[in-house]
Amino acid sequence: MIREITAKTIITRTKIAVAKYVINPYVGCTFGCLYCYARFIGPFKYTNCEWGEDVWVKTNAVQLLEKELARKRGDFFLSSICDPYQHIEKKYGLTRKIIEVLRSHFRRVHVMTKSNLVLRDVDLLRDLSVTLTITTDREDVRKILEPGAPSVEERFDTLKKLKEAGVNVSVFVGPVLVMNPENLAHRLSRYVDTLTLDALNYPKMVQEVYVKHGWQGWLTKEKFIEVIERFERVFKKGSVKY
Ligand code: SF4
Repeated sequence: MIREITAKTIITRTKIAVAKYVINPYVGCTFGCLYCYARFIGPFKYTNCEWGEDVWVKTNAVQLLEKELARKRGDFFLSSICDPYQHIEKKYGLTRKIIEVLRSHFRRVHVMTKSNLVLRDVDLLRDLSVTLTITTDREDVRKILEPGAPSVEERFDTLKKLKEAGVNVSVFVGPVLVMNPENLAHRLSRYVDTLTLDALNYPKMVQEVYVKHGWQGWLTKEKFIEVIERFERVFKKGSVKY
């Protein structure tokens, strides 16, 4: 269910490395990743909503931004507890309007997404920084763990098109899901020279699903280290960050 709300505030301070502030135009995310911690932090945990189904739309996001922005100096990140280009963005366009406002006030913006909808805004993103999240090369795994998100092939197509359009795009392989590391690394190496890998932060959230599919070996720290090493055989030394 989509619900329009009037938010009290839109800019939040963050400790993430790339930015000082974060903006979440939506509460909830229709990509519905099973491993997503956002359902347990921020405002979503205070709702009775279904993760992956219910989204609240901050319809006054742009007005709030105009009011709050004057006092905020530093880089901005979209988004930390929702995908800024999830399905509903197509209808409301809040992410696009927010980026327009930030650009008009000369703020640097970092966008992170799994979505091909980001291509709609290439005209705004050319001189900003975009990170595309690609967590596996296996569509069967993607379907189970990221049920509402764009397919693996859609994400590779998005990566290709962002590069062709001259956008400063990087890739985040996080969390590392069940995959063929050599295949994913080789495919990614056609587009990027460096990338960042991250482990599942809350493996307990997906333990049952992993056990059901015989993937439990992928929940260990050793497996994550093995994936890093296998990526490092494809990418140049020092170009795989984690
Ligand atoms: S796309 Fe990101 S915010 Fe949305 S459910 Fe997946 S991990 Fe969570």
